[in-house]
Amino acid sequence: MKSPFCNVALPVPLRTTFTYAVPEALRDTLQPGTRVLVPFRKKSMVGVIVEMTDNASTNVKIREIAKVMEFAPALTPKLIELAQWIANYYLAPIGEVFRAMLPPVTELNLRREIILTPEGRSAAESLGGGEISHGLSAAEAAFLEKAKAKKGPVLFSLAAKMSVSSQALQRMKQRGLIEIRESLQDSKRKSQTIVAWKGYAVETGKALKEKEQEVRTLLETERGPLPVSQLLKLLKISRSLIERMLADGLLESWEEPIDSAEDPFDTGYTPPAHALNEEQESVMKGIRARFELGEFGVQLLHGVTGSGKTEVYLRCVQETLARGKTAIILVPEIALTLWIGRQCRAWFGAKYEGVAVLHSALSDVERAREWWRVRNGEARVVVGTRSAVFAPLQNLGLIIVDEEQENSYKQEETPRYHGRDVAIVRSKSEGALALLGSATPSLESYHHARSGKYDLLTMSSRVENRALASVEIIDLREDFQKTHQTSPISAALHAGIQECLANKSQALVLINRRGYSWSVLCRSCGASVQCVNCSISMTYHKSRNRLECHYCGSIQQVPKQCPKCQSQYVYFFGEGSEHLEERLRKEFPGARIARLDRDTARTKRQYQETLGAFAGGALDILVGTQMLAKGHDFQRVTLVGAISADSSLSMPDFRAAERTFQLLTQVAGRAGRGELPGRVLIQTYYPEHYAIQDAVKQDYASFFEREMHFRKMMAYPPLTSLANVIVRDVNLEKAIRWSRKLSEYFSPHDGHIVRILGPATAPLARLKKEHRFQFLLKSPKRSILTKLLSGAMTFCDAQEIPQTAVLVDMDPLSLL
Ligand code: ADP
Ligand code: ZN
Ligand code: ZN
Repeated sequence: MKSPFCNVALPVPLRTTFTYAVPEALRDTLQPGTRVLVPFRKKSMVGVIVEMTDNASTNVKIREIAKVMEFAPALTPKLIELAQWIANYYLAPIGEVFRAMLPPVTELNLRREIILTPEGRSAAESLGGGEISHGLSAAEAAFLEKAKAKKGPVLFSLAAKMSVSSQALQRMKQRGLIEIRESLQDSKRKSQTIVAWKGYAVETGKALKEKEQEVRTLLETERGPLPVSQLLKLLKISRSLIERMLADGLLESWEEPIDSAEDPFDTGYTPPAHALNEEQESVMKGIRARFELGEFGVQLLHGVTGSGKTEVYLRCVQETLARGKTAIILVPEIALTLWIGRQCRAWFGAKYEGVAVLHSALSDVERAREWWRVRNGEARVVVGTRSAVFAPLQNLGLIIVDEEQENSYKQEETPRYHGRDVAIVRSKSEGALALLGSATPSLESYHHARSGKYDLLTMSSRVENRALASVEIIDLREDFQKTHQTSPISAALHAGIQECLANKSQALVLINRRGYSWSVLCRSCGASVQCVNCSISMTYHKSRNRLECHYCGSIQQVPKQCPKCQSQYVYFFGEGSEHLEERLRKEFPGARIARLDRDTARTKRQYQETLGAFAGGALDILVGTQMLAKGHDFQRVTLVGAISADSSLSMPDFRAAERTFQLLTQVAGRAGRGELPGRVLIQTYYPEHYAIQDAVKQDYASFFEREMHFRKMMAYPPLTSLANVIVRDVNLEKAIRWSRKLSEYFSPHDGHIVRILGPATAPLARLKKEHRFQFLLKSPKRSILTKLLSGAMTFCDAQEIPQTAVLVDMDPLSLL
């Protein structure tokens, strides 16, 4: 196995790997899945070895690997296989797939320890006499004996001291004599300093210096509050600059525990231990039967909101662990990782060790540490958002996808994978069970369940026979005719909240947009203020006193006059969550109100504080975006108001009805979960629409039938496979030229088995400075689409259309 070369995937947007020479000394031992530092163009980059090879193209100069990042491969063969599947299926560059799979490359040192295996121990014991060498060199034998004498693991440096090379260690490892464990160097520090941009109050002062502006952009728009160490690394700035900015009041800082296990909300938490009710028992029976088979399968758990799905999940994980296997629980929101993570730790994590939590709001260091804990087998349960589907667990027995219908499982940047679908593919390759749970399954999953491809498990009533919330429609047209008020809070909702306050119960108010007003219009000429980079109107944020683009993050000053015609009559149109909060404060003085959206909850601490305060009864009204609609179990909520949950119906999108139905059902699911009955008020302009009607009745089956009928007529998923191809460039002419070219390739294929629409201007005609054109591909056979698209990629290469200009979205959730 002495391969002189290896193919390395690099995190660059190119659908290819790169060949490097393997230094002689490493040839025996280097394995696919290992991260290596390699020279690339004029810099160094960390990539992943995809395969070892004996051949290299002779027309390019082959450079050598500079450094091996870890001793044992970071990725298991199964994960490499999965990455390759993703790269093929979603037509994504393999290097970018690996980047999504792996933890951030931190500069922290890995601590390597050597542990004698039982075989190694007995080998070392039999060495005693001196005659038997087991084919070991003298130095190696001496090392084994020394290691045997130690109680615990041996540090790597000892081997070097005893002149045992790392190649020799690799050989011993391959023979099963030793194990090598890598973990992030334990830092003594228990907490880290987080810095955040302090806000508008000080912005009126002197102009910001260039570096200060960079700090601001990063902290305010791009990333949100960050640990100091990460900030220094990202911007390559000095600590003294941060200190000066803190002193000047531009930044604020606080301490946060580094380890998620130090979560202050965890201490003293004991989860309720319920005996399962009849429905839960019968569902468990179905799942257990699958476990008994010990092979791949997909089960869909359709349980109404409040039916106690979490309890079922926890038992499934328990049974998986009892069988010696490991489990992943995927949740759609960071906030839910905290909630479910806490329950998992209480159930399985003796001293918090058995459970790892992975999500994007962790700092790089935390993420890397959790990741390596999983890789080393220290954590056997992983709770996380989308990318946790790649958690490097071995011996995987179960992947749970909670709220499987959620859009957040789909990554909207390359690689554009769907977490649920990848979970199924991974389960298949590892012989595990995939358990999809939802109160409102996606049409795809329910369709598969009905056709027998998945097992269908149902829980149709809430625990303890609690009633589902009563849902009422408020026809906004009628409301307006009566009151002639333009407040987004209807008379009925106002009265409902008043009643809540009087009863000392709680209310949730949902709105679909964040910001203060989602459009700034001129009354004279009708122009709206658009983003300079995108064909999207700018959102007004009052507390920050500026306009923001929610697509690219660009910022503009609030105009005093129309930028087009200079008229003074600009007005702000369409209320967002910030405005709604202000209104609620005015209409209900004295009520304790908080808002939860992406602007107020930028770190897990902020999330936790607000959610904790609400759950603990320190708040009366919580207003927020759909972030609030998902999964939370608030016991004292008796009223939920949906301000304009139907606005998604008017989107140019074939999933509009499905999305609306799901959102409203989820919203309704937040009310009346405890002992108090719940009431839900849905404000709408489309009271007759079936998505609204079925949501009011909370009748999933009826909705499914009607929606499937529509999908069938229109040849949309799940009855057809769909791919969206976007051609884009900052230069309009180029974008047009390439769309035309690509059209030459596609046109001849348009027929019965594949329908090809386009090129047309994309609904989002311009995004982040790029002009966009679109092809829509439909086929009843997915494999045909994949083949056609991979042909298109080859065609583009031949035509010298840059790979970055053509964006393929397989199974798109949205056609924008
Ligand atoms: P879902 O995820 O289906 O909406 P949850 O799992 O959040 O529902 O459960 C709703 C509530 O019911 C939780 O407070 C949970 O502790 C409680 N619960 C779950 N199972 C039972 C049971 N068998 N008996 C009583 N309460 C239960
Ligand atoms: Zn104007
Ligand atoms: Zn923009």
